[in-house]
Amino acid sequence: MQNFIFNERIEPRKRAVNERIKDFREIYEIYNPNEASIQADRCVQCGDPYCHNACPLHNFIPHWLKTVAERDLELAFRISNESSPFPEIMGRVCPQDRLCEGACTLNEGYGAITIGAIETFISEEGFKKGLRPQYEEKKTGKKVAIIGSGPAGLSCATYLLRSGIEPHVFERADRAGGLMTYGIPNFKLDKKVVQRRIQWLEEAGMKLNTNIEVGKNLDFEELLENYDAIFLGIGATKPRRAGIPGEDAKGAMLAMDFLTNIQHKLFGDPYNKDKEVKDKTVIVIGGGDTAMDCVRTSIREGAKKAICAYRRDAASMPGSRKEVKNAEEEGAEFVYNVAPTRIITGDNGEVVAVEFVRTISTIAKDGTRKLEIVKNSEFTMEADVVIFALGFENTPLEFLSKHGIETNKWGAIKVDGNYETTKPGVFAGGDCYRGAHLVVTAAYDGREAAKSIVRKLIG
Ligand SMILES: Cc1cc2nc3c(=O)[nH]c(=O)nc-3n(C[C@H](O)[C@H](O)[C@H](O)COP(=O)(O)OP(=O)(O)OC[C@H]3O[C@@H](n4cnc5c(N)ncnc54)[C@H](O)[C@@H]3O)c2cc1C
Ligand code: SF4
Repeated sequence: MQNFIFNERIEPRKRAVNERIKDFREIYEIYNPNEASIQADRCVQCGDPYCHNACPLHNFIPHWLKTVAERDLELAFRISNESSPFPEIMGRVCPQDRLCEGACTLNEGYGAITIGAIETFISEEGFKKGLRPQYEEKKTGKKVAIIGSGPAGLSCATYLLRSGIEPHVFERADRAGGLMTYGIPNFKLDKKVVQRRIQWLEEAGMKLNTNIEVGKNLDFEELLENYDAIFLGIGATKPRRAGIPGEDAKGAMLAMDFLTNIQHKLFGDPYNKDKEVKDKTVIVIGGGDTAMDCVRTSIREGAKKAICAYRRDAASMPGSRKEVKNAEEEGAEFVYNVAPTRIITGDNGEVVAVEFVRTISTIAKDGTRKLEIVKNSEFTMEADVVIFALGFENTPLEFLSKHGIETNKWGAIKVDGNYETTKPGVFAGGDCYRGAHLVVTAAYDGREAAKSIVRKLIG
């Protein structure tokens, strides 16, 4: 270990730009055992590992780095799959620069350990060698209803299965996975990777019911009567709107409508051809990870130009640096310090341009962020398609208030330290409790809620 002096940080190979923009396949390759071992061997094995503390799941990172360096794949696989419900997914989608790798002791000066890539390697190499996640064989006879099959719901199901409790998942979409299936694009997370985990969960006893919307075609009361506990993992999927004239014009759309439609197309499902962007100039409004996903998807769909328009400066972009860099490499254009004021439409009500004003964004010493509009700075940019990627809010659901499940002023479900809502026996986690956040934090909530449910049901 500690070989960071001799071996530099080397990220996994990325597919060449001119190749990767032609399809939706993942852009990163997976390390081979030799590469993974060399990279893991750089680890300092800190006494107080900051990476472990910065990982929302508190993964035993130094432990599995040591076992990878020593080429004990089986032990690395077991340790990695212990604290994480799907390490091969987190290794691919976590913004590591803001989490484990950002906190790595070597980050300043030497280059952080490539924790995410090694995490993906451990599972993928383990799967190749026939290793599988383990679940409890002995059943307790208890059943828990899980509403929503995103990372929060699937993580909760994983840890319930590990305690012999049968999870029954109810999902309104036609496929499970939540935003891992219908949000995050394939070039970051191949859908086969998500489907594989779901299949193993089903084989271990998870009952999955898709096309069932609780509160619409299944009553919440029925779940209360028939299950020992309920977990709400319903996400925060209500898109924020810009509130500007013309936002409903032909060619203007919300990020999730755009991304979900393309995902249906890639699955070979029926999809809406009116939302296609081939040969069009696309302006994406927003600067987070969803905006990056939209520009990069537009490029792969053959857009003439894909422009990201963000109201603050480059340094203030909220998403992962890695994803901004990938978007730049793939030809996305960026316009900073601009805010849209209206969509300009043509004779048939179609988008022809967007009017913007220029802004000045500042951060005060106390961290307060300010945004000033520059007077008389209006200008227009031509566009055929405008995609709004302005974030998400919690969806107010009638069955929550009807059953005394309280929400806060932003509509997020309130839980106590055990992830139990204000209705005893009903637990919640993920975006529906935090507001739009991350796969890894949803996975953490699902895991911790499952532990509380297990304590409550079987002690
Ligand atoms: C485009 C996009 C890209 C992203 N990229 C990343 C990334 O790279 N890395 C990262 O860490 N995070 C990313 N995120 C955020 C991440 O996907 C979410 O934080 C995470 O999926 C939240 O998990 P969840 O389980 O709480 O909710 P969701 O994943 O939203 O799942 C909730 C599920 O509940 C279902 N549901 C809702 N109401 C009902 C009901 N009444 N009955 C039945 N089912 C219901 C929904 O259909 C959905 O499937 C991205 C988000 C988006 C939108
Ligand atoms: S789950 Fe995310 S934050 Fe934790 S070790 Fe893996 S990549 Fe890092």
